[in-house]
Amino acid sequence: MAIRRIVVQGDSVLNKRCRQVTDFNKRLHTLLDDMKDTLAEANGVGLAAPQVGVLRRAVIVVNDEGEMMELVNPELILQEGEQTGPEGCLSVPGKYGMVTRPDHVKVRAQDRYGSWFEAEGRELTARCFCHELEHLDGHLYVEHIDRFLTEEELEAYNAAQEEE
Ligand code: ZN
Repeated sequence: MAIRRIVVQGDSVLNKRCRQVTDFNKRLHTLLDDMKDTLAEANGVGLAAPQVGVLRRAVIVVNDEGEMMELVNPELILQEGEQTGPEGCLSVPGKYGMVTRPDHVKVRAQDRYGSWFEAEGRELTARCFCHELEHLDGHLYVEHIDRFLTEEELEAYNAAQEEE
């Protein structure tokens, strides 16, 4: 297990479409383990393989229970509802923007051994699934925003959330 360097916006690896994972071998397991270490170290809620420079369809998402889920070759199979809230990315450090996403999603993915499973997420987890899956097609959340939030706007939003 090891911490890998997180690629930041401007590196072309983040704009490329990732290839399907076809070998569920030791190399994949090491990648997933390293991604989990890297995500924990960065204190994030999701990480996609291209963010550590690997153009393969694999992501880690922290689910509603706070557990790290490994999703290999993930696909969205259901999207419903809508939510708008601040979103950030470990590859765009220190910045946030308001993004509208589905409020409830279901995904189908393979585990590290190649078995298919389904998972679902609401609210932040739904947002995270959508965000991470976009990375696999070379897209960043910044494509959905007009501008970044100011620190004051972000603080005001978070304060309002806490009052709810
Ligand atoms: Zn991201």
